[in-house]
Amino acid sequence: MEKNIVKHSYSVSLDSRKKLKHHQPLLLWFTGLSGSGKSTIANCVEEELYKNKVHTYTLDGDNIRKGLNGDLSFSPEDRTENIRRIAETAHLMMDAGLVVLAAFVSPYQKDRDHIRNVVGHNNMIEIYIKTSVEECERRDVKGLYKKARKGEIKNMTGISAPYESPLHPDIQINTEEITVIEATKQIITFINPKLIIKNE
Ligand code: ADP
Repeated sequence: MEKNIVKHSYSVSLDSRKKLKHHQPLLLWFTGLSGSGKSTIANCVEEELYKNKVHTYTLDGDNIRKGLNGDLSFSPEDRTENIRRIAETAHLMMDAGLVVLAAFVSPYQKDRDHIRNVVGHNNMIEIYIKTSVEECERRDVKGLYKKARKGEIKNMTGISAPYESPLHPDIQINTEEITVIEATKQIITFINPKLIIKNE
């Protein structure tokens, strides 16, 4: 911590907030190519958690790149800074007691490792949404692949910028083999035990 910044001890603690919410905070980090299905699956997982009275919030390119990270490009350095700020934001939200879902391409392993260091090793679930670049390009949900092929977008992950696949993700979803509903079930089954507050 910086010199002269002294932490104040607040009487309402994370433990108090957990007791109010009846679940642990957690970070569900979705990584994968653009159009792989991160937002689609995160949305279904969040719906399911909401039904189970879990307090959630989803961070994605739409709400982060337009505001907090509006000054950042897609260069390697800015991508790293993008993830660093998101990790800090997610950490605050977890301190508020939330289950945070984060859907970002996050192409570099070192950046994903950094997130885990920020939020605590056991508090992050790395979910690799594995979809081939051919399938993402076929879907081309946002028309970005077409633009990248025409050279209108530089640094397009999978086309003109690298994607480092997670070697040891907590969960791997191959969207060319399973449905959104099956993927959601797999994720919920994995995280449910981690949401339980021991001795509650
Ligand atoms: P991302 O957030 O990774 O950029 P999106 O979720 O916006 O990707 O888009 C993924 C697209 O792929 C959606 O149009 C979705 O309907 C489609 N899709 C087809 N099959 C699947 C699947 N099994 N899982 C997730 N998305 C799928």
